Amino acid sequence: MANVLDLAAQPKPVRDRLARLGIMQPNNLLLHLPLRYEDETHLYPISDAPLGQGVLVQGTVLHSEIQYKPRKQLIAQIEDASGALHLRYIHFYPSQLKQLAPGNTVRVLGEIRRGFFGDEMVHPKVRVVRDDSSLAEALTPVYPTTAGLSQSTLRKLIDMALESLPLNDTLPPALLDRLNLPAFGPSVKMLHHPSPELPQQVLDERTHPAWQRLKFDELLAQQLSMRQAYAARRERSAPILKASSLLQAQLLASLPFPLTGAQQRVLAEIAADLQQPYPMQRLLQGDVGSGKTIVAALAALQAIESGYQAALMAPTEILAEQHYLKLAAWLEPLGISVGWLAGSLKKKAKQEAIEQVAQGRIQLAIGTHALFQDQVEFAKLGLAIVDEQHRFGVHQRLALRNKGGSPHQLMMSATPIPRTLSMSYYADLDVSVIDELPPGRTPIVTKLVNDARRDEIVERVRLKCAEGRQAYWVCPLIEESEVLQLQTAIDTHVYLAEALPELTVGLVHGRMKAEEKAAMMAAFKANEVQLLVATTVIEVGVDVPNASLMVIEHAERMGLSQLHQLRGRVGRGAAESSCILLFTTPLSDTAKARLKIIYENTDGFEIARQDLQLRGPGEFLGTRQSGVPMLRFADLERDSHLLDSAREIADELLANDLATAERHLQRWMAGREQLLKA
Ligand code: ADP
Ligand code: MG
Repeated sequence: MANVLDLAAQPKPVRDRLARLGIMQPNNLLLHLPLRYEDETHLYPISDAPLGQGVLVQGTVLHSEIQYKPRKQLIAQIEDASGALHLRYIHFYPSQLKQLAPGNTVRVLGEIRRGFFGDEMVHPKVRVVRDDSSLAEALTPVYPTTAGLSQSTLRKLIDMALESLPLNDTLPPALLDRLNLPAFGPSVKMLHHPSPELPQQVLDERTHPAWQRLKFDELLAQQLSMRQAYAARRERSAPILKASSLLQAQLLASLPFPLTGAQQRVLAEIAADLQQPYPMQRLLQGDVGSGKTIVAALAALQAIESGYQAALMAPTEILAEQHYLKLAAWLEPLGISVGWLAGSLKKKAKQEAIEQVAQGRIQLAIGTHALFQDQVEFAKLGLAIVDEQHRFGVHQRLALRNKGGSPHQLMMSATPIPRTLSMSYYADLDVSVIDELPPGRTPIVTKLVNDARRDEIVERVRLKCAEGRQAYWVCPLIEESEVLQLQTAIDTHVYLAEALPELTVGLVHGRMKAEEKAAMMAAFKANEVQLLVATTVIEVGVDVPNASLMVIEHAERMGLSQLHQLRGRVGRGAAESSCILLFTTPLSDTAKARLKIIYENTDGFEIARQDLQLRGPGEFLGTRQSGVPMLRFADLERDSHLLDSAREIADELLANDLATAERHLQRWMAGREQLLKA
């Protein structure tokens, strides 16, 4: 007999669908674990069946029909010795009507609900009972699947894999004893076919030792592969950038403030990395307003003093331009040429900037992702800095073109990555944290205000501005339509300008030309504009210390990190600052939960941690997603103890037992490399 498990022998559509599930080779089938289980081992009498869980009952069809009101549906009624049950299908096939022909004996699996007209099951699984229909002996696994791939095909393939592949352990028994984890073989078998005696809950909550084992294995594989990526980076070469002896001291002497302890510490970490012959990949985390820009500037000086170029990329033009103005003011007095490169530059100016970058005449290039497009080639790029790295999409991944060697990379983010994420998905990066704000800031007071009280808020703006302060008014995010969002901003601007005739009210939004935006920001910075109406374009990085009040409309529509970033635009000077979150009722439960978190917390890390719990890791990962092994089974918060052991064991294995590490990676990653690169 041919090797039945040769996936290549499967019809192409099946192969394609399996590939979509990440199943590229037979081994992957073993690790395709059930989402849940159905209990078809036990028949309940209809009237005694428990509610709130899937149950299997059997009865004779009394009648069945297609109804058209209130909507098209298939309704049937079955009966056993104990009682009767309605079955209802809103989506159905003609074959189901046949199965449910009156007189047939059927076995149905589903959840019984107390309906208006008696007990009913909606969309139960149904099967006609023949004389030889025996009950299942084990729970029936339900696998994650994709359109066109049936549960029964998957089950068949997985069962074949369980029978024909070796289920030997990748980890030594002594290690498993120490970790108190069961062996691999029995664990996977059990998870695919648990005995019906096991309480369903133990399986659903994935607390059974067999689940713990598989989750540990997954986390260990992730740790190992991230460490490999980390080690591989050390094999590449990057320019050695000697510690700055001149320029950094000059810049520091010209600043009106000393660096905080935290800034000094992270700068030392960066400086040490830049002196290595392999590329740095360091993530600089620091809450909004913690002073990352000056650290970036000082790092750039280390590259420049060593005769290399540096580049700083920001996600929006407003932010890039702010950086440009700030860094030019800091560095040009030191005789350094700072260049500007953004998508909106006129063709000729852009061409000129690109040439200067290529000739090495621009020492620090600042811009949007236009900086990193194909035509841009640096003469001698030593350091690439990416600000607000989480804002860049996957398609904007760093495609740096450099003549010779890879540049060092510094990624900055104000969205703090919770500990568990940075230990798993970010384990291939080095992380520096600025955990201290510059002195003299007063905490921001956050208020939640119902939109019905908007007039009071307008009064507040009037008072604040009369005191010489400035304010932001942020218009709601309207995801479905940029045009609508723009219109709302324009309307709000008109409304506020009328309500506050004594103030100069400005407007800035994403559709404005870059020069217009820059002019507006400059006017706001110079206090020529007291109230700035803005769409969420001001979300990142805008720095106007005199602005001490921020009003955010429809705060319930915004994500937590976005709110936190927006709020960080105020409280940058010594004046007491406040942030008013206007919300519109009724609020959904998640919206309530989000607003509560932002109201109760000012620490970005804590907000991020709670946000992670609320949303799961997906949205946090942003650009990270590709190239990083995703976790399918482990839950970083709930399984953090397993993550801790996986880290420890990964270290041990890489130091003392490479063969085991290799074997383990082989089982978990083989066949998935393409998937990770995709
Ligand atoms: P972020 O980390 O959010 O990018 P910025 O770099 O924009 O923060 O810094 C916020 C403000 O704090 C800026 O006005 C900056 O000049 C100022 N700043 C930075 N470091 C210090 C410091 N050590 N002492 C006082 N002010 C500082
Ligand atoms: Mg910043």
